[in-house]
Amino acid sequence: MNFELTKEQQMVKDMVKEFAEKEVAPKAVHVDKTGEFPVQTFEKMGQLGLLGIPFPEKYGGSGGDTISYAIAVEEIGKACGSTGLSYAAAVSLGASPIYYFGTEEQKQHFLVPLASGKGLGAFGLTEPNAGSDAGGTRTKAVLEGDEYVINGEKCFITNAEYAKTITVTAVTGKDERGKNIISAILVPTDTAGLTINSNYEKLGVRGSNTSEIILENVRVPKENLLGDPTGGFKQFLYTLDGGRISIAALSVGIAQAALEKAINYAKERTQFGQPIAKFQAIQFKLADMAMEIELARNMVYKAAWLKDNGKPFTKESAYAKLFASEAGFRACNQAVQIHGGYGYMREYEVERYLRDIKLMEIGEGTSEIQRLVIARQLV
Ligand SMILES: Cc1cc2nc3c(=O)[nH]c(=O)nc-3n(C[C@H](O)[C@H](O)[C@H](O)COP(=O)(O)OP(=O)(O)OC[C@H]3O[C@@H](n4cnc5c(N)ncnc54)[C@H](O)[C@@H]3O)c2cc1C
Repeated sequence: MNFELTKEQQMVKDMVKEFAEKEVAPKAVHVDKTGEFPVQTFEKMGQLGLLGIPFPEKYGGSGGDTISYAIAVEEIGKACGSTGLSYAAAVSLGASPIYYFGTEEQKQHFLVPLASGKGLGAFGLTEPNAGSDAGGTRTKAVLEGDEYVINGEKCFITNAEYAKTITVTAVTGKDERGKNIISAILVPTDTAGLTINSNYEKLGVRGSNTSEIILENVRVPKENLLGDPTGGFKQFLYTLDGGRISIAALSVGIAQAALEKAINYAKERTQFGQPIAKFQAIQFKLADMAMEIELARNMVYKAAWLKDNGKPFTKESAYAKLFASEAGFRACNQAVQIHGGYGYMREYEVERYLRDIKLMEIGEGTSEIQRLVIARQLV
């Protein structure tokens, strides 16, 4: 693998970095404090083509690769974790399954608006009683004539309140061994019977919308079934493999922001007559943070490269997600430590990074589940 970014990847990096510094970072404190979803930022991101980076132009995308997309997530996440999470979820969970598994008609109808930034997508997998064990899905979809009638409940769904389309997983029958068949169904958010509540009070990523979804006799045409009717389970595993690359990239972005703040602070803050950056204890913390962030970034690029080149990437995306989120958490924690008491205060922003990055060890498969995924690939 060539570790130099291509011209196109470098262009994406420069463009997104500039946008993130100008448009996203200045709003980060407000977004965190108020929990307001940054609607206008997403409109601008749509206009710049950021919501369609990894999709072909014929589907409204920008025709970029997964590495470019991961770079964009890192830069947006570095500026604002909330915006970064909603961005990663919109692309990796909202739009990507339609690109991977949709028919040509579904792509034209559902993917084009999402990829071209005219709306956001969401992915409704988690339920109150089916989190890590997503196979325990209870939401049901029954075929009645030409329509699926869906009943059930989803929780913790990113972007749902602002989404145009939600891909919902539901049990559609039983296989020959009596096990539930899970399918994925595209549900436009203006469909009758769909209720979306966003009442969660969150620790971090507070400006990223997180919603509960109630489905009561929601009727959608049977053509809205996504991909293989019996392969919904495999489909969402593949979708999550891809999504993990973006959560890893987001972890790298948040951790990088924490590292830069910590370096600047360590150079400015004087104790015992010298900048604290002169103390070896502080230097070693910075060294570990920088090293782990760079290793995490390399793993993100490797997993993305494997995906782009059509090679298996399940294990590598789990490595990337697990390592980046845990190393990122350590880095953000040390950034607070380096700031001392000031780090505990909102004004210095490093405590926000710590609150935001905690989600990365939970969402799209907890750290424990990543270890299970890796172990399964090994034995
Ligand atoms: C802010 C936010 C955004 C989210 N966005 C989305 C979204 O857009 N779409 C979506 O579908 N979901 C989303 N989720 C849900 C998220 O993916 C789940 O919360 C996560 O998968 C964990 O499920 P759970 O919360 O039910 O925890 P549980 O599965 O109940 O886990 C509880 C604990 O038990 C551990 N555990 C569970 N099973 C095992 C096992 N077999 N071995 C060892 N340990 C185990 C877990 O690792 C964890 O530590 C989001 C969650 C949050 C908080």
